[in-house]
Amino acid sequence: TWQAALRHLKDRVSQHNFETWFQPLEVTRFEDKGVERWVHISVIDDFNKAWLEDNYVDLIQEALEAVTPGVWKLKLDVQGIDIHEPQAVLIDSPKAAARQVKATQLEIAVPRKDWKELAHQAGMNPRYTFEEFVVGSSNQFVHAACQAVATNPSQTYNPLFIFGGVGLGKTHLLQAVGIEVLRRDPTQRVLYLSAEDFMNQLITSLRQKDMNNFRTQFRNQCDILLIDDIQFIGGKDSTQEEFFHTFNSLHQMGKQIVITSDKPPRELPGIEDRLASRFAWGLTADIQVPSVETRVAILEKKAEADGVPLPKDVAMLIASAVRSNVRELEGVLVRLGAQASLMRMPMTLDFARDMLKRMNLDDGKGMTVDRIIRQVSQYFGIKPADIKGAKRSRDISIPRQVAMYLARTITDESFPELGKKFGGKDHTTVLAACRRMEDELSRGTEVGQSISALKSQLS
Ligand code: ADP
Ligand code: MG
Repeated sequence: TWQAALRHLKDRVSQHNFETWFQPLEVTRFEDKGVERWVHISVIDDFNKAWLEDNYVDLIQEALEAVTPGVWKLKLDVQGIDIHEPQAVLIDSPKAAARQVKATQLEIAVPRKDWKELAHQAGMNPRYTFEEFVVGSSNQFVHAACQAVATNPSQTYNPLFIFGGVGLGKTHLLQAVGIEVLRRDPTQRVLYLSAEDFMNQLITSLRQKDMNNFRTQFRNQCDILLIDDIQFIGGKDSTQEEFFHTFNSLHQMGKQIVITSDKPPRELPGIEDRLASRFAWGLTADIQVPSVETRVAILEKKAEADGVPLPKDVAMLIASAVRSNVRELEGVLVRLGAQASLMRMPMTLDFARDMLKRMNLDDGKGMTVDRIIRQVSQYFGIKPADIKGAKRSRDISIPRQVAMYLARTITDESFPELGKKFGGKDHTTVLAACRRMEDELSRGTEVGQSISALKSQLS
């Protein structure tokens, strides 16, 4: 009976909920008391017990009654405690259960633990909450949209489409939505995954001829779908096809969808029109490079969380040296903190200046060619070494020419000097690149637009 009930439960809750809450349960005893039947279940600790009582007693009873008709009652015992101890709680009606839960919850201060666990099981980082996210003018709008969606899933914007550059907090906000939803209602089935994971799972399911399972998981066992980095499925036609149907099916059932991307829907290369237009059905919001004040606030928050001492002037220094990528901003702070503690040095302005120089980051006043190269490679998602290298494929040569043009217009280096700094190239190469980029700019092409975007990032 119990195994059958478990199978029944499995269809009612998400895979991870099932594995967390139901799989570990053990039946210690069945008791037949004539009209009612009692099942004694052993749970691993008080926390699990309170949780089950709070959320799942009815569901378990239902499952038992579905597989073996009759009146079923549950008794949850914490493992290792004698079942005759008063700790064991008798639950004979949902109302009594509710009363009991209140009493139990007062004693056990656990609510933080449980959403963290749920977030973790859903593949999310429990640190990516709204509380940990610093709001500034660059992300105010998208932050508000995410909060609206998390508070009232599928009641506001569906889908919510978030786009923006690398390291600006898209993944953080996306997960914050998922975490907040779980915090408010742990029974919500939140599915978080990158578009790449979606494709990989699709491929596995196709190979194992298990498409029914795949479709059930995405279309029927999901209340909120969070898809990260959708640009990945550009040009991947069968993945797009499947995602299209997943999207339609969830949207029709009124399930919330949130998507992140590096570009707005219409500018995504290799994405079918019918998908791009659906992405824009709800709200499209962009996330921009944070202002220097916001960057300082992010550093301070992070320093406090990690216990790194961070004087205001040092925070300002880092914030002006790292401008366009919050991940890099955090990385520099971590490295500085680690160095300071290793060398037993106080985190002073001089120390930080010195370290930044060694990391090849200047003090934010002068603009170096290396910094432009780094920024450009980040923007296009390639390695700085490739820009300085000799590869001629378009995905490298365009960023290289963009970087050359920007270096020429922003710094006051000569063409031969620039040639050297781009890995020993001839000055005519740099000159030709600058001419070509001027042309792209004047024609307002996609490359031209990238140049403008980078220019404003760098200024
Ligand atoms: P993206 O997905 O846009 O590339 P992430 O969400 O991975 O960027 O963010 C990179 C890092 O920067 C993460 O550690 C994230 O927590 C942090 N971060 C980004 N924006 C903020 C912000 N506004 N407040 C606090 N942390 C932020
Ligand atoms: Mg991301």
